[in-house]
Amino acid sequence: MTIVDTPERRQLRELTRTFVTREVLPYLDDWERAGEVPRELHATAAKLGLLGIGFPESVGGSGGNLLDSIVVTEEIIRSGGSSGLIAALFTHGIALPHMVASGNVDLIDRYVRPTLAGTMIGALAITEPDGGSDVAAIRTHARRDGDHYVVNGSKTYITSGLRADFVTTAVCTDFPGSGELSLLVIEKGWPGFTVGRRLEKLGWHCSDTAELSFVDVRVPVTNRIGPEDTGFLAIMQHFAAERLSLATQAYATAQRCVELATRWCRDRSTFGRPLASRQLVRHRLAELHTRAEAARVYVHEVAARVAAGEPVVTEVAMAKNVAVAACDHVVDAALQLHGGFGYLRDAEVERHYRDARILGIGGGTTEIMNEIIAKGMGL
Ligand SMILES: Cc1cc2nc3c(=O)[nH]c(=O)nc-3n(C[C@H](O)[C@H](O)[C@H](O)COP(=O)(O)OP(=O)(O)OC[C@H]3O[C@@H](n4cnc5c(N)ncnc54)[C@H](O)[C@@H]3O)c2cc1C
Repeated sequence: MTIVDTPERRQLRELTRTFVTREVLPYLDDWERAGEVPRELHATAAKLGLLGIGFPESVGGSGGNLLDSIVVTEEIIRSGGSSGLIAALFTHGIALPHMVASGNVDLIDRYVRPTLAGTMIGALAITEPDGGSDVAAIRTHARRDGDHYVVNGSKTYITSGLRADFVTTAVCTDFPGSGELSLLVIEKGWPGFTVGRRLEKLGWHCSDTAELSFVDVRVPVTNRIGPEDTGFLAIMQHFAAERLSLATQAYATAQRCVELATRWCRDRSTFGRPLASRQLVRHRLAELHTRAEAARVYVHEVAARVAAGEPVVTEVAMAKNVAVAACDHVVDAALQLHGGFGYLRDAEVERHYRDARILGIGGGTTEIMNEIIAKGMGL
């Protein structure tokens, strides 16, 4: 099984490439310095139908499935974009799916449609200062008070947290740490909800990351996604798509770095000959290419099985780890092949090197993926 290359998908690749070339590449360095992408970029991507890929037309999306989203992700990075850009522009890929799956028409009209139209920005807040890996231990608490919840707690490392108009927030609806979780949609500006400082990071510079604080925030019960205490299951179900997106970002970053390094080694001469003429360098590039390609094929295989509805939790974890390992190895080697230039901000490979480091942390760390794999092995 793999991602079939249909004429529609070739068109989608072309559309994505044109979007990145025209709307992203001339400005990406500025956004990296500014620490965020502009809201207008969301509107532009929405008009082209790119924001809605993977979401049904019935909720304002453009149709397509996980495999089409993967095509867009691949193509953004191949065209010179970055995983940081994807994190910033496609945060709705993690903020909306629970709402869509719930079928709640009110939430879909108020949050899903405007976000896919590029007029709202959403975020997903699970991680807390006390820990992210142990999702069941979430302490942010929601106490029922009539037709409202009263929310107290804090979240950290939240992607697009500074710009988000609403946050899909994981809260504990029983005693803190009980694992009885629910998802509430909380809007910016509601009394008691404050967005903290911009968190400075190693990479993903164009993606804003924030701390969020909730002090007696009154959230209408109608803003709960699905029945009470079903949040944990909902979070786990939607982790597959997030992990496969991160896996795609990993192998696509590796592929892009192989391309950059190959170009560099053809053009750069040392001791009177192009680097690429040396067997050691050619074999190095061949090995890097092989690692990236093997990761791509495995992630495609697992993604196609997820899209077909197979319960492949263990394979998703393996796909993430395989792709992240390939990426970590390739970005390091590709930067080394660039010599001193690879260490400069002017070099695209330098950005990929920094951006890549988060891929084995976000969406569940490499160690947590290994826990899942070990369980799948019956250990
Ligand atoms: C740039 C960025 C963007 C992010 N975006 C979001 C977002 O939008 N929304 C959101 O909710 N979160 C987000 N996160 C948080 C991210 O998902 C967490 O950082 C991640 O899940 C790890 O949680 P933690 O940082 O609390 O580490 P911890 O859970 O404290 O883990 C620390 C270390 O211990 C290891 N470890 C933990 N438990 C075990 C174990 N049982 N066995 C072995 N090793 C273990 C981990 O693998 C890790 O290496 C983001 C993080 C970053 C850096």
